[in-house]
Amino acid sequence: MSAPSVFLPGSTIGLMGSGQLGRMFALESRKMGYRVHTFSPDRDTPTGQVADKEVCASYEDESAVRAFASELDVLTFEFENVPVQSVDWAAEHCAVRPAGSVLHTCQHRLREKEFLQKAGLPIAAFVPVSNEAELRNAAQTTGLPAVLKTAAFGYDGKGQKLLRPGADLASAWLDFEGQSAVLEAWVPFEKEISVLVARGATGQTRTYPVCENVHTHHILDVTLAPAPLEESVAEAAATLAIRAAEALELVGVLAVEMFLLPGGQILINELAPRPHNSGHFSFDASVTSQFEQQLRAVCGLPLGSTESLRPAAMANLLGDLWTHGEPDWVAAAALPEVKIHLYGKASPRPGRKMGHLVAFGATVQAAADLVREARRRLQREGT
Ligand code: AMP
Repeated sequence: MSAPSVFLPGSTIGLMGSGQLGRMFALESRKMGYRVHTFSPDRDTPTGQVADKEVCASYEDESAVRAFASELDVLTFEFENVPVQSVDWAAEHCAVRPAGSVLHTCQHRLREKEFLQKAGLPIAAFVPVSNEAELRNAAQTTGLPAVLKTAAFGYDGKGQKLLRPGADLASAWLDFEGQSAVLEAWVPFEKEISVLVARGATGQTRTYPVCENVHTHHILDVTLAPAPLEESVAEAAATLAIRAAEALELVGVLAVEMFLLPGGQILINELAPRPHNSGHFSFDASVTSQFEQQLRAVCGLPLGSTESLRPAAMANLLGDLWTHGEPDWVAAAALPEVKIHLYGKASPRPGRKMGHLVAFGATVQAAADLVREARRRLQREGT
């Protein structure tokens, strides 16, 4: 087998997607002397603002995708819901890492669950559902409560419905009519944790410290890095993440979201074959950020150290924070152990991820207290 291609500084990397993950990837890539082009249907995007070139076209536009790819050495993603057909077009012009097959698996909940099951990785019981009768049968299998989720294009809890015992299944199905869905057994988790794993072009793997993630309204609110966990649990979580990356034959970065149950059992919830919100702490707190690691992996370079420099915590800044005007940046900046990240988005809609804060502490709990305090200081009072 020939050695995988290596793309050295000066090469041009393409990104499908143009959000904040791409922005941070582009910043890290430019730092190392790479050129970055971004492709998405939007203009003046978080990635486009810091990239060498921003292409605005539909993912279904074959000639635009081919023209974009023909200027690249390697294409990667900050967003997995890109049509696989577009990735196949691009692959005729440049290297694509991770491969389109990885996206194909991870962009569809049912395919992803079947893949994890086949790989022998632990997941919650689930049943595919495509009509109301199947939902009734599925509910018999999983029991209630259970969570009904669309199979495609779900994120941040979108396309999900919690079905409590006694739920009216006919009306619950109305929102899912015509869609492929999955009914998943309710998991009485103690904590939500995640592991970010990088896998290089030669199969080298490195994991970041396990994180604990606190969600509010299904959106990530605060990440603690490292998660306060027993060593044996952290090791088990890291092993699962490596097994998932190897089974996918991933080249890039993979976020593995997991449920930790009382007693230490771990179930995998979701995979994202790209940098992840729960890994943002690494931009400030790790020897190698998740974005530099993605760059190294997709360019065929050796991976960097995933060691953390300090215990850290990350808090998301959602558009809701702008309700009473511009947040008080000076008040947050007055905390010297807090880093402010903003994504350059113009309209702060409620629930929209506008930026995040990272705080350091002597302990991860101290970092979490500080990051919450910093976010509280940003908040303007209502009139
Ligand atoms: P997901 O989009 O699948 O990551 O789900 C978003 C959030 O909903 C998760 O982070 C959990 O907080 C919650 N959730 C999803 N599935 C389940 C489940 N089967 N049991 C309990 N909570 C869940």
